[in-house]
Amino acid sequence: MMLSREREVSKPDDTLLAQDRWMDRATLMALWNEPVRLFRLANLLRKERCGDEVSFVINRNVNFTNRCVGSCRFCAFRRSDGYILTEEEILERVAAAERFSATEICIQGGLAPGLVLEDYCRILEAIRENFPRMHLHAYSPMEVFYMSKNSGITPEDSIKELKRAGLGSMPGTAAEILVDRVRMEICPSKLTTAEWRDVITTAHGLGVPTTSTMLYGHVESLEDRINHLLLLREIQADTGGFTEFVLLPFMSGNNSLGPMSQRLSHLDNLKMHALARVALHPLIGNIQASWVKLGRDLAGRTVLWGTNDLGGTLMEENISRTAGAVEAECMTPAQFRDLIERNGRVPVQRTTLYGRV
Ligand code: SF4
Repeated sequence: MMLSREREVSKPDDTLLAQDRWMDRATLMALWNEPVRLFRLANLLRKERCGDEVSFVINRNVNFTNRCVGSCRFCAFRRSDGYILTEEEILERVAAAERFSATEICIQGGLAPGLVLEDYCRILEAIRENFPRMHLHAYSPMEVFYMSKNSGITPEDSIKELKRAGLGSMPGTAAEILVDRVRMEICPSKLTTAEWRDVITTAHGLGVPTTSTMLYGHVESLEDRINHLLLLREIQADTGGFTEFVLLPFMSGNNSLGPMSQRLSHLDNLKMHALARVALHPLIGNIQASWVKLGRDLAGRTVLWGTNDLGGTLMEENISRTAGAVEAECMTPAQFRDLIERNGRVPVQRTTLYGRV
């Protein structure tokens, strides 16, 4: 599909804007079938909220283990006989990230048998002791839920301890689609929608910001996606704790859900990014496209239709790659700048919490 930049609208003249700043479910459903109007509105709201800047962060993923007792049907990452990184191996990776001028380490792993709160805290403490300036963005709500259960304490007490150990913010992953009927089908052993919401709002209440995410393009309906977005909007209205919304198109390789998935076209992906901008406006201002999942070129195109952030350099991306993503493991700051400028926007390096570097 070709969408030329000449069709961007720069004046706030869309009647939908005047009618309703918080789109209701029916309007969002209708917009899906009016792509020209949807794109125009998403771009208008993006410009109003973020101007022409598009941001990225220099970060590194550390997937400290791929052993997992979970059974998510979309997962190609877990292994029953996989690795667990030693503290030394983790610190070597962080040292390499520091040499690359990273400002963030993103730490997530499988649910390895027997892991308790102390194990998770020890990783944070070791990094904080050796690299005190690094922002630690760590542990999904599922990991917090798992460590709390194994340790016989509440998620609230776990998050307090993690914060004391150096936690700066949390990834809002494990959200997948926040509709229990869908969760039962794709990740039956994961926390429920209410449990996810509880961990997230507890984190926000303790002053730990999180991202928000959505895994789409598998067995969910458009209505499920919209319900997911409306739930995130409701949480944000209460807590203000989400830093951004990250769209994660489903990768169909090497997992049992793959054959049943929707084959997302480029147009579907662009429309979904635009719809997220419109649905979450103005409460969640940062809408992020994943270059790992979409590929660089398509991720770059999303900045024309609603997104204002392209995520991080990553330096080591294992989770999507095992599910068939073809991108390399790392995107350099120069490559980010080039991609953003080629799409007519102004590149900005940001911190995890959207400060400027
Ligand atoms: S997505 Fe995470 S929790 Fe689910 S099986 Fe994979 S590694 Fe385990």
